[in-house]
Amino acid sequence: MSKKTIAINFDTGWDLNPAPESTSHIQLNEQYQLFIGGKWVKPESGKYFATINPATEEKIAMVAEANEKDVDKAVKAARKAYNDVWSKMPAAERGKYIYRIARLMQEKARELAVIETMDGGKPIRESRDIDIPLAAAHFFYYAGWADKLNYAFPNRHPQSLGVAGQITPWNFPLLMAAWKIAPALATGNTVVLKPAETTPLTALKLAEIIQESGLPDGVVNIVTGAGATGAAVVNHKDVDKIAFTGSTGVGKIIQNAVAGTNKKVTLELGGKAANIIFEDAALDQAVEGIINGIYFNQGHVCCAGSRLFVQESVYDTVLRKLKDRMESLVVGNPLDKNTDVGAINSKEQLATIHNYLKIGKQEGGEMYQSNCSTPKKGYWCKPTLFTNLSQSNRIVQEEIFGPVLAVQTFRTVSEVIEKANNTPFGLSAGVWTDKGSKLFNLTAQMRAGIIWGNTYNKFDPTSPFGGYKESGFGREGGLHGLKPYLKF
Ligand code: NAP
Ligand code: MG
Repeated sequence: MSKKTIAINFDTGWDLNPAPESTSHIQLNEQYQLFIGGKWVKPESGKYFATINPATEEKIAMVAEANEKDVDKAVKAARKAYNDVWSKMPAAERGKYIYRIARLMQEKARELAVIETMDGGKPIRESRDIDIPLAAAHFFYYAGWADKLNYAFPNRHPQSLGVAGQITPWNFPLLMAAWKIAPALATGNTVVLKPAETTPLTALKLAEIIQESGLPDGVVNIVTGAGATGAAVVNHKDVDKIAFTGSTGVGKIIQNAVAGTNKKVTLELGGKAANIIFEDAALDQAVEGIINGIYFNQGHVCCAGSRLFVQESVYDTVLRKLKDRMESLVVGNPLDKNTDVGAINSKEQLATIHNYLKIGKQEGGEMYQSNCSTPKKGYWCKPTLFTNLSQSNRIVQEEIFGPVLAVQTFRTVSEVIEKANNTPFGLSAGVWTDKGSKLFNLTAQMRAGIIWGNTYNKFDPTSPFGGYKESGFGREGGLHGLKPYLKF
């Protein structure tokens, strides 16, 4: 990657010196097999696909593509492990394995962070400070619950379900795997996980960690592939529970597929979060929160604050501050520690974003993009915002999953509640105000699973996460996250 990928810092007027994270300590195979029954198994399909680095378009590794037969093998291995070992093991012993996985993840945190950034394009600052520590934190947290389920659900005699099929997206690959595997193991279930096609590598590194932890063979199986592999997991007759995180479109397909079966389902789907700034808010702090909510991780966040509502009296000030801050964002090499905005995850996703930019302009929106340069190779989108929009515009209603902010104004509290709720989604929201009473008034009336007050994108394993409406159902994280893996 060329050094010129670093944008000018307009605050200082100086170029930032490149500070790339080293890749010398990472260990990757040229080719990965499927992780089934504790072993690396060649795919029945005989097929492999390349996973690339979206910042350079270079191939990183070849990865096995699992077909229905492979998925069947994985489910059989998970069932056997469930029947023979995992369901019989004392819960405190299960907890020890989960703790061990958490500690091994911490030991390998730097390697995992670099691989996550290379495979998915997200800034190293984010994978290093958010994805990997939070993934380990989820294993630590759920390890603690393993032998306390009777205290979590007193007098209800919780029991495990059996085999859980889990399907994850590309935006937080290892973290989403942790959100799913850790509670499944703590509740005594075994797992078949299908990571996203464009970002399978950290799940495969997790398989190595799982081997090293001594977890009994078959308790966790990892089958790589694309949508068809995910569908094979969903449709397998011997899977007791499906946990899916991804788009609302695929979520609907899955819900149809499991209708009429005994499978339990949780769906964590898309979002179109409202970030609301009142005139009494600390504006600089709010602008930083808006930036964090939509531009960090390139807007590849289900709970991204992709709609901004600014109270009319402070609109000009907020817009000026927002544009100033956009100019100081460093766009480029995701492995550079200075980078704020990395690469778009795939060519397809970039095409989707570009299409929305076109639609936004056609609908009469006024587009503003930060004045940065982007590298010649790789997939990039400059931090973008649209003004002059109306509620019915597609870029206001639909999830873009890119660094694109739709800015609108409001005058009264009731008006902004109505506008914020005017979307098919209901995953998250942010409210910026000096008045606690206003905050609680809003949170009570907004249809969103997570609402942040005077902050944004804060996560913790103890806190449940999930949506309303087309953002899905079921909760992951916290005590609530145990329930979908249990019967009573
Ligand atoms: P996606 O296209 O729905 O894919 C998600 C996963 O499902 C991938 O592993 C995908 O495989 C697989 N898949 C595709 N078609 C399938 C089918 N017919 N049956 C079973 N599995 C299938 O979503 P994405 O583009 O990866 O991720 C972005 C979406 O995830 C956004 O909408 C975002 O809001 C949402 N998301 C939600 C949350 C949340 O907690 N609510 C968190 C993160 C992301 P391949 O991709 O390998 O083909
Ligand atoms: Mg990749």
